[in-house]
Amino acid sequence: MRFARVIVDVPIEQPLDYALGDCDPASLVPGTPVLVPFKRSDQVGIAVGLAADSALPPDKIRPLIAPILIAAPLGERWLKLTRFAADYYHCAWGEVALPALPPMLRRRPVARLAQRVEKMRAAPVGVATADAVGSGADGAGPAVPVLRDEQQAAVDAIAAAAGYARFLLFGVTGSGKTEVYLHAIAATLAADPAAQALLLVPEINLTPQLEALVRARFPGEAVASLHSGLNDGERNAAWLAAHEGRARIVIGTRLAVFASLPRLRLVVVDEEHDPSFKAGQGVHYSARDLALKLAQLAEAPVVLGSATPSLETWAAAQAGRYALLRLTGRGGAARSEVELPRVEMIDLKRHPAEHGLADPLRAALRSTIERGEQALVFLNRRGYAPVIACDACGWLSNCPRCSAFASFHKGERQLRCHHCGWQARVPAACPTCGNQDLSAVGHGTQRIEETLQLALPGARIRRIDRDNTQRRHAAREMLDAMHAGDIDVLVGTQMIAKGHDFRRVALVGVLNADAQLLAGDFRAPERLFATLLQVVGRAGRSGQPARVLLQTRHPGHPLYAALARHDFPRFARDQLAERRAMRLPPFVHAALLTATSRDMSDAVGLLQVAQGLGQALMDGGAAGAVKLYDAVPMPLERLAGEHRAQLLVEAARRSDLHAFLVRWLAALRREVASQKLRPRWNLEVDPIAI
Ligand SMILES: [Zn+2]
Ligand SMILES: [Zn+2]
Repeated sequence: MRFARVIVDVPIEQPLDYALGDCDPASLVPGTPVLVPFKRSDQVGIAVGLAADSALPPDKIRPLIAPILIAAPLGERWLKLTRFAADYYHCAWGEVALPALPPMLRRRPVARLAQRVEKMRAAPVGVATADAVGSGADGAGPAVPVLRDEQQAAVDAIAAAAGYARFLLFGVTGSGKTEVYLHAIAATLAADPAAQALLLVPEINLTPQLEALVRARFPGEAVASLHSGLNDGERNAAWLAAHEGRARIVIGTRLAVFASLPRLRLVVVDEEHDPSFKAGQGVHYSARDLALKLAQLAEAPVVLGSATPSLETWAAAQAGRYALLRLTGRGGAARSEVELPRVEMIDLKRHPAEHGLADPLRAALRSTIERGEQALVFLNRRGYAPVIACDACGWLSNCPRCSAFASFHKGERQLRCHHCGWQARVPAACPTCGNQDLSAVGHGTQRIEETLQLALPGARIRRIDRDNTQRRHAAREMLDAMHAGDIDVLVGTQMIAKGHDFRRVALVGVLNADAQLLAGDFRAPERLFATLLQVVGRAGRSGQPARVLLQTRHPGHPLYAALARHDFPRFARDQLAERRAMRLPPFVHAALLTATSRDMSDAVGLLQVAQGLGQALMDGGAAGAVKLYDAVPMPLERLAGEHRAQLLVEAARRSDLHAFLVRWLAALRREVASQKLRPRWNLEVDPIAI
């Protein structure tokens, strides 16, 4: 063998060939990180094979510098998964594989890496910090709850799976999905002394409390956590512990799907519908979808859990491709009974909102506080008002860099764009006509907080959203105060909806859900239903009767009707019927080609070139049943000064789509290079918004 095939983090499809030079081929088994010269610098790559010949002319082949032999090579399964992801998302293997490596392997290796790794091996992994234990487990050793029959049945079904099996664990908030995960993990680890389990959770759910709970329940095990909040040292140590099998439980956010887990025997994806599992930049992979592939490669069961599964997952379960495990929350011990709150609509046409609040909600808030109970007010819009306007000339506070309004933040006297981060002082007078009478239009959380203070004098009202939780622990302190009963009304965005178990909340007010109800994106109803069901689930969790009041102009809308009945299956059935009729995912497979440029005509121009190439492939009979749409500006057409356009491709069969994409993108790359087209372009497979 004279050559090594190496992948590096560049958009070049084929692995690169390097001469072995002085390197011992035995030290270059596939999966070994290597240092190679690339262009004018050295880069870290991964050896993926050895070869006797190279198609490259000898003068183009440079010698490999050295293998990086600090840990065992990456396993065959890991190589297969990253290779699969690259093929599926139509990017280079190295673009998926290299970013998944820990920082110590990605950067140019420094001296003494081996000593650092030795130190990491000696240090304990996943010992709960005093902070996490103090606020979470209250110091006491946790009692393992007795499972209800339906939970036990779910655990048994997962444990009985031999090899690859897909499960959807469908259960309302509070029905005990987490206990099923923990018991399934315990059963997996007990069955095999070397087994590893992976628990993927959305970014916002990976709290110190969850980590502390898992660690407390598995006191003898090292638990590694992998998420974007770690510093390099923490990430290196967690990655290595997983790679070497010392950590048998790995909890992480989407990037953890690419962790190296040589003895993986169980994969769990909690809140599988959460959009944060889809990467928003770089390679647009879905960690949920890759978790299924990972489990298949590992011949292990995979459990997708949700109270509001994605419609793709739900359709697969309905079709029998995933085994459906259902938790109703009923039966068994009384303390885990789930009392569903009563959901009522307030018709804004009959009860117009005043300063954002309708009278029935005001009255309900007042009586809730009088009874000494707590309330939540949910509004998915931060800031004081989404726009300010000049009544004299019609000027509106547009963001200068985006095709969107800049929101008014009152306390800071600022205009802020929630899309690109642009901010400026609020003008004292209209920039167009000089009128000093500018008015705030619409309501954000800051304004509702003000309204509540006026409507409920003496009440303890607090707000929680991204603007006032920048400080570390700020959100935690606020939620602790809520738990302690030091807050009467908590107003906030999605942050109040996720994962908190407020026992004394007897009323939830929902404002302006209509905005998302009428949004253009085809996934908007699915997201709205998931969010609202989560918000609704905050009320009455200790069993007292609770109410949810939703202000709307569309009180008869089927989505709200399904919400009022807590009926996800009905909602999903209606949505899927609509998707089928409109030829939308999951009934078609789609990819979205986007182009961005300083100039819209350049962006659209590149996509038109792509469209022509695609049409030529189809005319030549080289493409199956693929449909190519016109190039159009994206819904948010300008973002941070860049114009954006999109072109949608779809096919009834996934294999047709991918066969087309391979040829189409190859043609596009050639054309972009030969015409020196400047707009940047990106392909997203299974786009999250169309
Ligand atoms: Zn004006
Ligand atoms: Zn902007």
